[in-house]
Amino acid sequence: MFLVWGTYPEKKDLGIVEQTCPQCKKKANFLFFKIVKTTKIFWIIPIWQSHDYYFTCGSCHSTFEMKKEKGTELEEKINEQKELKNK
Ligand SMILES: [Zn+2]
Repeated sequence: MFLVWGTYPEKKDLGIVEQTCPQCKKKANFLFFKIVKTTKIFWIIPIWQSHDYYFTCGSCHSTFEMKKEKGTELEEKINEQKELKNK
């Protein structure tokens, strides 16, 4: 028997954040998202998962990687705001 595994990336949009762009130096709305990579064996059994945060400038459309700690913090903040709106 042989083992088959692969990595399956999945994009998850987290929200819109206003920031100053490191590329075009404009204050713009950034699309904040994460790429979740799941490693699966036999296409269905997940054995490993990792994720990275990115944001895309709404003005010049450059995409930047965000540090994991900062991304986690921002994701939590967005989720908190969403919960407040639902109350
Ligand atoms: Zn920009």
